[in-house]
Amino acid sequence: MALREILKMGDPRLLRMAQPVAAQALGGPALRELVADMFETMQHVNGAGLAAPQIGVDSQLVIFGSGQPNPRYPDAPVVPVTVLLNPVITPLGEELEEGWEGCLSVPGLRGVVPRWRRIRYQGIDPDGQTIDRSVEGFHARVVQHECDHLMGILYPMRVRDFSRFGYTEVLFPGLDAAADD
Ligand code: ZN
Repeated sequence: MALREILKMGDPRLLRMAQPVAAQALGGPALRELVADMFETMQHVNGAGLAAPQIGVDSQLVIFGSGQPNPRYPDAPVVPVTVLLNPVITPLGEELEEGWEGCLSVPGLRGVVPRWRRIRYQGIDPDGQTIDRSVEGFHARVVQHECDHLMGILYPMRVRDFSRFGYTEVLFPGLDAAADD
């Protein structure tokens, strides 16, 4: 396993439409190593999720969840540890919900982003097993944020009210200032 460099906003590789993971790659050692590296990288910085394009890999692969409370989002519900490939998101209903987001590719900042409150997400895991879940709230937000990375979208592109966008250490002085988003 190895820590990977996380690309920062401004890098054109964050703006690509990611390629689907090919069936031949499923269950293979290269994919397993990539996923292990992504978890190590995400956990190193207490991330809530990480998308392959954030480490420069042009693949439709995201990881998220911790199975335990995230120190950066201590009040958020626990999201199961998930590796999701070739995802498809379908909104359930039309309700939008605003919430604060940060991003490992946009360190030190947070902003309020509207997201679908409830979604269904479908895809496969690294062994090709089907994932099909209907979720809401924080879980739904994390999935939407990570899958946006696969379409070259960073959360600041979805901020509507820039009076609620700024530096974490200023907006949330109580929060661990050392922890970058
Ligand atoms: Zn992000």
